[in-house]
Amino acid sequence: MECCEKCGRLLSTDEIAVYRRMVSRSAERFLCKNCLAEYWGVPPAVIEEKIVHFRAMGCLLFG
Ligand SMILES: [Zn+2]
Repeated sequence: MECCEKCGRLLSTDEIAVYRRMVSRSAERFLCKNCLAEYWGVPPAVIEEKIVHFRAMGCLLFG
């Protein structure tokens, strides 16, 4: 299992997928959605929306 590079929290498949999708397709280190939200300066809900959005598009990175 992958952990958040910043806070060390265990990452869900969706968090890894959204990071790959939004930051780097070939990333091997990831941030959880809270740290990613902080990194972008947006509310965590925005990351949730991205996950829902990408899943709705049928992105294969999302479980
Ligand atoms: Zn984190």
